[in-house]
Amino acid sequence: MKFDIAIVGAGILGSFAAYHALKSGKKVLLIEASTKPHGATVRNFGQVVPSGMNLKLWRNLGRRSLELYGELATIMPDALWQNGSLYVASSLEEANLLEEMHEINRETNYVSKLLTSTQCHKKINLLKQSYCHGGLYYPQEMSAESSLLMKYFWKLLEDTKNLHFKKASPVIAVVEVKNGVQLRCSTGESFISEQVMICCGHQLSHLFPHLLQTEQLQLSKLQMLRTQKIKGVKIPGNLLTGLTIRRYEAFKSCPNYKNLPKPHIDPSYGKFGIHLLFRQSADGSIIIGDSHEYFTAQDSGSLDYEICQEINSLMLAEAKRILNLPYLNVARIWNGYYSQESSQGVLLKSTTENIHLITGIGGKGMTTGPALMERVVKGILDKIPLDECLIDES
Ligand SMILES: Cc1cc2nc3c(=O)[nH]c(=O)nc-3n(C[C@H](O)[C@H](O)[C@H](O)COP(=O)(O)OP(=O)(O)OC[C@H]3O[C@@H](n4cnc5c(N)ncnc54)[C@H](O)[C@@H]3O)c2cc1C
Repeated sequence: MKFDIAIVGAGILGSFAAYHALKSGKKVLLIEASTKPHGATVRNFGQVVPSGMNLKLWRNLGRRSLELYGELATIMPDALWQNGSLYVASSLEEANLLEEMHEINRETNYVSKLLTSTQCHKKINLLKQSYCHGGLYYPQEMSAESSLLMKYFWKLLEDTKNLHFKKASPVIAVVEVKNGVQLRCSTGESFISEQVMICCGHQLSHLFPHLLQTEQLQLSKLQMLRTQKIKGVKIPGNLLTGLTIRRYEAFKSCPNYKNLPKPHIDPSYGKFGIHLLFRQSADGSIIIGDSHEYFTAQDSGSLDYEICQEINSLMLAEAKRILNLPYLNVARIWNGYYSQESSQGVLLKSTTENIHLITGIGGKGMTTGPALMERVVKGILDKIPLDECLIDES
């Protein structure tokens, strides 16, 4: 059988590519190396936060992704919720930036609400008033319980008539042949498809390494913690803090971003790229993160998964500065990697007319991936050059 589109990799990008191709009535092959989701897509926070994205293309893709997640939320309500995002400022200067951002949101028609520190405290009663100088709330934003989301999403795809989902099948070669593109798996099986999309995440050493292991892509290693259930603590939605306001692209568009004074904080936070985010799961545990350490694309074949205790201590110290937690017992620590393209924010490269590489979306794949893949799949089916998928339509 010949497929219309074959997709290598079933993380958020590959899975949404399959979803959109199926919606277009295509015969789709989705091939995944592992037996269950295991990449960045299930190691993350699950924060769907267009509010943090650069204000042109990426915020718009984030906003469209909220709509696409909305389609899924009705059938998987315990994996996706619309509980909003709250940014809290740790200084008057950061609070001023939140006001500037609120004004930009008003002009660009994106709903946000400025909150006083008392109102923030009302939303999250454990928020320390010594930390919080005001907040900006985005009621439309969503959170995902990523591993549950992917479990349901894979099942939904598997149950769709025109999809052939091959798991435990690492693809080791993709080559043009007379009647299409051939994909060969390490299992010995091979398949033919008209078009192939390779959504391989941070695994840059297996397919087309000469095109992926370049300076255009770098790798980021992130470290995360999950606490045990903390009684009496309720953090609805995504909680983002002062260091995040300083880090996220969106805030760089605020007129006074460049005038922000340096934070009074141990320089090790900068060295490890730490900013503090929180998201509470349905079982009451809280995910706290994250840090960023950088590697070159050539390192992708020899990555380490070591936990750095110094990073844990720094993140926990900052968490205690922000929240008045009655106790803080860490239940799990893990890390994850993503690949990040340095100029356009994602790597979209066609190696031939029919083979397309899509990776390097960095730390915004859960927020913008669904809408990006809608454009990319349409572009491939309409034979539009992939670069055009990144034109800002606002
Ligand atoms: C710790 C952490 C926190 C994050 N938090 C957020 C957040 O809150 N919000 C947000 O928007 N983004 C977040 N991100 C970023 C987001 O998770 C990623 O951008 C996104 O998951 C990338 O998706 P992907 O499909 O490209 O890659 P992956 O999820 O890594 O999927 C790639 C898949 O391809 C498969 N594969 C690779 N090569 C082959 C092959 N040759 N054959 C077959 N299969 C193959 C792999 O097995 C894997 O399943 C976070 C990332 C991390 C690591």
